[in-house]
Amino acid sequence: MSVIEQETKTLQNFINGQWVASQSTETMEVPNPATGAIIAKVPISTKSDVDQAVEAAGNAFQTWKKTPVSKRARILYKYHHLLTENHERLAKLIVEENGKAYKEAYGEVQRGIECVEFAAGAPTLMMGETLSTIAEDIDSQMFRYPHGVVAGITPFNFPMMVPLWMFPLAIACGNTFVLKPSERTPILSNELTKLFMEAGAPAGVLNVVHGAHDVVNGLLEHPLVKAISFVGSQPVAKYVYEKAASYGKKVQALSGAKNHHIVMPDADMEKAIGHIISSTFGSAGQRCMACSAVVVVGEGSEFVEKLSQAADDLIIGDGSNEEVLLTPVIRDSHRQKVLGYIEKGIEEGAELLRDGRAVMTEMEKGTFLGPTIFDQVTPDMTIAKDEIFAPVLSLLRAKDLDEGLAYISQSRYGNGATIYTKDARAVRQFREEADAGMLGINIGVPATMAFFPFSGWKDSFYGDLHVNGKDGVNFYTRKKMITSRFDY
Ligand code: NAD
Repeated sequence: MSVIEQETKTLQNFINGQWVASQSTETMEVPNPATGAIIAKVPISTKSDVDQAVEAAGNAFQTWKKTPVSKRARILYKYHHLLTENHERLAKLIVEENGKAYKEAYGEVQRGIECVEFAAGAPTLMMGETLSTIAEDIDSQMFRYPHGVVAGITPFNFPMMVPLWMFPLAIACGNTFVLKPSERTPILSNELTKLFMEAGAPAGVLNVVHGAHDVVNGLLEHPLVKAISFVGSQPVAKYVYEKAASYGKKVQALSGAKNHHIVMPDADMEKAIGHIISSTFGSAGQRCMACSAVVVVGEGSEFVEKLSQAADDLIIGDGSNEEVLLTPVIRDSHRQKVLGYIEKGIEEGAELLRDGRAVMTEMEKGTFLGPTIFDQVTPDMTIAKDEIFAPVLSLLRAKDLDEGLAYISQSRYGNGATIYTKDARAVRQFREEADAGMLGINIGVPATMAFFPFSGWKDSFYGDLHVNGKDGVNFYTRKKMITSRFDY
């Protein structure tokens, strides 16, 4: 065992208001992706850890569901205050465990805080509906109630924002929660939990169990867990959706993406390039709303040339350096998978305009990959179809908007899509016909804010009610109808 390993802390689970060691002795190292330094170890917990957490959440629910909604909301106000006070510290922790640039991490913290702001509106959000005189002397009322224990399973790429899409709103609605953070970025979840307890949350209301698929399966199979929120890759999202449903649970599973950006001939070229560069290469392309395919409408040679030059100018490095835009990918195992895609792109006949692989020898430490751009990509190629989740961009050529929209329709994914144009007719056609759930008009990352649903379509989402906004409230509550007669 190296000195670093001896000194590195193994993270604990949080169950019933206590930090506890996992019952498993198996751990996984958490390296800083930019330096390779091991910053923590995460326990690979067992199903019996899950059982304890769910039991604690089940017991806490008996009191929490009766706690007045205004009191629940007050904890969220305090939490908002504490998160805001810790904004910079949390952003630095994100940089360390995820590798993204400080500015991106700072923005992520802000997005997370906005979810807490939204959830603090629970007294209004949970209001039901009433209708007088649905028949003679008869009225109808609808009340919203929490489900009980809800579980959240989160990905590595937004270690703060995604957990905050889930537990603040679920808990504000009166549920209790078990969180299973990504084993690749587990540190933020513990920090978020500490602050939540400091805000006054009672023991058992929020629990955290670290680990991998055993923890996920434990949650999916547990009869006390009534609803599952999942965010992650497509195969796992589908698995979670199907398995949770087969165990009778409510489920929302947000999945992978392939986001197309259509560049029309009349687009403001400089601005479009700026947005595309930042959307494609920011967070090393590891955003579910990242641009990964650009559809160049018309001749486009000047645009392609300028875009490639802008990629050459990118500063690559550790995200703690504020100048840097292109940061490392999460692990070498992921980078190896991406290298396979680059080989596949060449093999299938795409033209490699910029090859980011040289960066790997220039930067020995950390899991860096330079900006990689393929031109003359066709929709049937593997690099056009699969989510690569890395700084790898495919350029597809289209003669007109109809053809560009057809590429979007052919994709199995439908998370986001953007058009760059000043033409109102093109905007309207794009809005009406683009087969994706979150559209941008001259916007690089058209991610929605906490008061709207995060609304992926097709294989980018499994379920009915999305996270955030009114969908989130509907997901975390169930409705009870009362019909009353008053003619006695
Ligand atoms: P991932 O699927 O590898 O992991 C997500 C979660 O699932 C983790 O907690 C992990 O422990 C668990 N998991 C992984 N394999 C499992 C298995 N075989 N059985 C049970 N559980 C398993 O995803 P990731 O690599 O951490 O995150 C990146 C992915 O998430 C990308 O595909 C990205 O598009 C997607 N994502 C989507 C959205 C969205 O809103 N649609 C947002 C963020 C990320």
